[in-house]
Amino acid sequence: MSNNTTTAETAAQPHSTILIIGGGAAGMAAAIAARRSAKASGQPCSITILERNFRSGTKIRISGGGKCNVTHRGTPAELLEQGFLRRNEARFLRHALYSFSNSDLLALLGSRGVETEERPDGKVFPLSGDAVTVARAFEELLQESKVEQYYSCRVRRVERKGELFVVTTAVTTADKVFTADRLILATGGVSWSKIGTTGDGLAIARAFGHTITKPSAALAPLFTLKAPPASLSGLALRSITLVATAGGRSVERRGDLLFTHRGFSGPAALSLSRDVAELMGESGNCSLFADLFAQQSSAELEAELLKQARKSGTQMVRKFLQGCPIAPHKGSFCVASHGTIPTALVPFIMRHAGLENEVTWSGLAREKRLSLLSVLKRFPLGSVRDVPLDQGEISAGGVSLGEVNPKTMASRVVPHLFFCGELLDYAGEIGGFNLQAAFSTGWVAGVHAAKAEQ
Ligand SMILES: Cc1cc2nc3c(=O)[nH]c(=O)nc-3n(C[C@H](O)[C@H](O)[C@H](O)COP(=O)(O)OP(=O)(O)OC[C@H]3O[C@@H](n4cnc5c(N)ncnc54)[C@H](O)[C@@H]3O)c2cc1C
Repeated sequence: MSNNTTTAETAAQPHSTILIIGGGAAGMAAAIAARRSAKASGQPCSITILERNFRSGTKIRISGGGKCNVTHRGTPAELLEQGFLRRNEARFLRHALYSFSNSDLLALLGSRGVETEERPDGKVFPLSGDAVTVARAFEELLQESKVEQYYSCRVRRVERKGELFVVTTAVTTADKVFTADRLILATGGVSWSKIGTTGDGLAIARAFGHTITKPSAALAPLFTLKAPPASLSGLALRSITLVATAGGRSVERRGDLLFTHRGFSGPAALSLSRDVAELMGESGNCSLFADLFAQQSSAELEAELLKQARKSGTQMVRKFLQGCPIAPHKGSFCVASHGTIPTALVPFIMRHAGLENEVTWSGLAREKRLSLLSVLKRFPLGSVRDVPLDQGEISAGGVSLGEVNPKTMASRVVPHLFFCGELLDYAGEIGGFNLQAAFSTGWVAGVHAAKAEQ
């Protein structure tokens, strides 16, 4: 254990200028930024992190399947547009993403020898292919920043006594009390609760009078009432449009879709899960469909099917479907730009369209061709049973953005209280956007907590 890493049981009751609850991406960035800001202004500043896990950066270590998709390529404006689809959330994050951008993050990692690589889809990963290198870099930066760190130290209660925050923690044998002039809440969301994110910070914020938007699932798999047939489990559909409908409302997302033994996952399902969870909350049910030819309108696809029927009357329709590219370039069936309809799916397409297995184009009546068209544009995937909150890569909801100053991350309700990271009411897309948002909001909170007047 390092010099400035302490167990709560052995330390005397400590007072800090800035106390940070949560040693994840946001909390660590806040601590490092606070030290740099205090140093620049020449102000004495003691900084402490309290973390309930036995070490920092637990989620960083498991992120991106252990490879850590640490951020995304592009300008801050591009990140905001691609990564945060709800405009109020993008607006809230704007200042933070400009203040501490992806380039700033990569420079910080670079200063600890962590090189990164950009994938063709814009995702950025450490070159090592190992998330631990990112977590270690932050550990080193915390050491270098002389941040007091307490692990296995869960905060139970925070009170305001005069100008002080009084923080009570549970350690293995007894409660321990910390005091601070300024407090940064960085306790994360509520998914993956088994690794420490159980919403403690939300309860603390609520007790201080903050409005909490009820947490809900995001970037989570979709479980259906009837599981997909076992023969389809593990199957991927490339670049389709996943559509969810309920109560006359409809939401959709373009991307790859993965069949699982309980329903659906993959980028399209994960990205749509927040909307689906909301539709389920409003209507109690939600139906899923896949547009297998998202790039073509029904009229264009109908023209293509007709052309095929005229050209290859003796060809079996199922044979055609087996080689048929999904999302081909406009007006062409020839170029498999995004993959073909998986062979295993073809019998289900035929069945849903009411086509016999051996039917040829010339034997296909007009209404059957239209039925096929309708299934290709709206392949039924079943009704949603659940969008499991705990299995989401993130959770939506949290501390209401209207009560937090986006330029400082300071509470508009309680002086000297700051928020950062996933506990705020925003949710990013897959692609490194959530870690970047946690680092950026953490950085801004740290800078301004260090600047806050005594
Ligand atoms: C499996 C998985 C994979 C992911 N992959 C990616 C990815 O590749 N790219 C990406 O951008 N995002 C990814 N994410 C999302 C990303 O990890 C989070 O959005 C990000 O880590 C949030 O940072 P945070 O600091 O706000 O919260 P967290 O990282 O969750 O940190 C909060 C910390 O607060 C601590 N804490 C909570 N309550 C208390 C308390 N009472 N007392 C003391 N400490 C407390 C927790 O133990 C935790 O360590 C992934 C998430 C998961 C679950």
